[in-house]
Amino acid sequence: MKYLEEFRDPALARGLLDDIRATVTRPWALMEVCGGQTHTIIRHGIDQLLPEGVELIHGPGCPVCVTPLEVIDKALEIASRPGVVFCSFGDMLRVPGSDRDLFRVRGDGGDVRVVYSPLDALRIARENPDKEVVFFGIGFETTAPPNAMTVHQARKQGIRNFSMLVSHVRVPPAIEAVMTSPDCRVQGFLAAGHVCSVMGTAEYPELAERYRVPIVVTGFEPLDILEGIRRTVRQLERGEAAVDNAYPRAVRPEGNPAARAMLEDVFEVTDRAWRGIGVIPLSGWKLSERYRDQDAEHRFAVDGITTREPAECRSGEILQGLIKPNECAAFGTRCTPRTPLGATMVSSEGACAAYYLYRRLGAPAAAPLEANPVG
Ligand code: SF4
Repeated sequence: MKYLEEFRDPALARGLLDDIRATVTRPWALMEVCGGQTHTIIRHGIDQLLPEGVELIHGPGCPVCVTPLEVIDKALEIASRPGVVFCSFGDMLRVPGSDRDLFRVRGDGGDVRVVYSPLDALRIARENPDKEVVFFGIGFETTAPPNAMTVHQARKQGIRNFSMLVSHVRVPPAIEAVMTSPDCRVQGFLAAGHVCSVMGTAEYPELAERYRVPIVVTGFEPLDILEGIRRTVRQLERGEAAVDNAYPRAVRPEGNPAARAMLEDVFEVTDRAWRGIGVIPLSGWKLSERYRDQDAEHRFAVDGITTREPAECRSGEILQGLIKPNECAAFGTRCTPRTPLGATMVSSEGACAAYYLYRRLGAPAAAPLEANPVG
């Protein structure tokens, strides 16, 4: 298959669903790791088409959602300073910090700009040598390589007024954290295909073996998801726990060596806090010592920040697959994409936004303007 429509073909989807139904003999709980997969599942109603007993648990793979509150507050602090141009992808502007968001900082006179690439921020730095330009570098293994490359370029081009506030996270330690949680119900994983397109699959066999859990690399179209589920439940029914690549059109076992080399040059692995979850050992990247002067945390000395999570937001439980978004009392009432209490309602990959946007499980209808939760 070559074209997008073919990966949404209803007849092929029915065939995969029939095969899944014929395979399943008992209940299974699978976690789709990535928020992009969650959106495909909810948007196309895949969770409701599966045989009874096959449950999809939404995982922590939304970069905006897991950026810790402390880092958001650091972003707010830096962006508020005179002479700073703070550049970010649009999703991050509405993520609530302890007492405001980046939109509020901009409304109060801060120079906060939406960019579509870290290289846009580098260009702004080049064009504004009298300003300090900071890029908000968040995300998983997918966004980390271009961000690393931008820091590398800034150094190479001698652009000294550019720095990055880094909050990158890594998927395999998150899978380990899910499996070691005392509340874990996950029996199989649909691994995020785009992450594996960068990192390859080498980190997964050990996890699959240690936790006796199938890990199937899966894409993002409906047929990709169904094929991932089919392969996962087949393994489970046979008592197997292996790594399988159901996304070979994008993922090679070795990943992208050039991107990995850039990551290794610029970043080093570190413990990282995940919003709503807590610190996961070795689950993040920070700028390595060689690039310390381009680390915005270091350059602006933002420490001593204390954070306060809104008490009623249950996004931490949602990110760990412990509850579904509509089980939060604030869902669709006090918390909507226009008035988000938590990042899982803000982000275009957030599970709460997916449930709200596609009006599932009795959620109130969204006004047309709210069709795009990230505006
Ligand atoms: S619905 Fe809103 S308040 Fe509830 S968990 Fe989701 S983001 Fe948090």
